[in-house]
Amino acid sequence: MNQQISSFIREFRSHISSDSFVPLHEPTMNGNELKYMTECVESGWVSSVGSYVNLFEERLASYTGVKYAIAVNNGTAALHVSLRLAGVTKNDEVLLPSLTFVATANAIRYLDAIPHFIDVSESELTVDTQKLSIYLEKTAVKRSNGTFNKFSGNQIKAIVPMHTFGHPVQMDELMSLADHYNLNIIEDAAESLGSTYKNRQTGSMGMLSAVSFNGNKTITTGGGGAILTNDSELAKRARHLTTTAKLPHRWSYDHDEIGYNYRMPNINAALGVAQLESLDELIRKKRMLHSVYQSFVSVIPGIELIKEKEYSRSNYWLQTIRLNDVNAIEDWLLGLNEAGIMSRPVWTPLHELPMYRDCPKDDLIHTEKLKKVLINVPSSSSLFKETNP
Ligand SMILES: *Cc1c(COP(=O)(O)O)cnc(C)c1O
Repeated sequence: MNQQISSFIREFRSHISSDSFVPLHEPTMNGNELKYMTECVESGWVSSVGSYVNLFEERLASYTGVKYAIAVNNGTAALHVSLRLAGVTKNDEVLLPSLTFVATANAIRYLDAIPHFIDVSESELTVDTQKLSIYLEKTAVKRSNGTFNKFSGNQIKAIVPMHTFGHPVQMDELMSLADHYNLNIIEDAAESLGSTYKNRQTGSMGMLSAVSFNGNKTITTGGGGAILTNDSELAKRARHLTTTAKLPHRWSYDHDEIGYNYRMPNINAALGVAQLESLDELIRKKRMLHSVYQSFVSVIPGIELIKEKEYSRSNYWLQTIRLNDVNAIEDWLLGLNEAGIMSRPVWTPLHELPMYRDCPKDDLIHTEKLKKVLINVPSSSSLFKETNP
């Protein structure tokens, strides 16, 4: 094992209290979680209706600064319904980074639409808006009824920016580009709850946004997600579609279209209300974790820690190191995981997966480079002892 890897392991271990295995991300639950869930169980309101769902939605909307939040059973469902409400239908193309979790592309395919992969910026890890602008100039043609892909003939209807590991996309540039090409923006804010871009919360800038509360995210509801929007009509439609399109009535079961059973159960929302109360504290700890990492990563040659940009404040969901050497990642992953420090590379870029290999795409040079040099390292908010770095 090389010198840098062993220094990293030694420094990492010096900041934690045990020698045991360290997972990549663990939930922190030391607030009112048990109390609220017990109330749920005792009242019998554990399923798809109940007061915690409403409370969770209200508090989430207020936290993120949007008018409406609709709680659903996972982040993928939130993306699926958001894309449908943005008018995405069969054979429409939807722009998204190839460097994202597979759920972003899957949600597009659920609508028989076509993922169209774009590159990310090497330093930001999120959609490279400058490169996208050049690409669209070559690839897209604007007509009175929308923007079309010159080569496939399909309409390009929407774009899904994703705030990678909690780091916000440069939304101003992206929004003006989307505006120019008439593309609806669906923010994939699954990883970035609490991150801000120029003081605006991620998830508050798209036509609709999707958040995830899976067990490995910054806060969790066990499994869960939410759709965020400022548009009252879209909020109403989202609520309707995720509740099997049931028409409200005291006893009749009537449905006016094909909907989904996507609503968040009350017991999960109870967990969510408690977690939301801790969100600011969890982010504070994640930011402290980042500065502890920074204190030792910055003196190890050949690696650097990914930092937030001056226009943003990251929730630092996952801490990420970047290797200078494009041939070193296997050694690092082996070294860290053997030492009980769970670490992983970024996702295999989606355009390399068998089901997405034939999708339209820009050249993905930065994405292909990044997959060889990025490693996520343990990021639980309560990982390091509370000390000043
Ligand atoms: C976690 C995640 C999702 C999906 O959320 P689930 O709640 O797991 O369905 C979607 N997109 C990204 C980028 C994610 O990280």
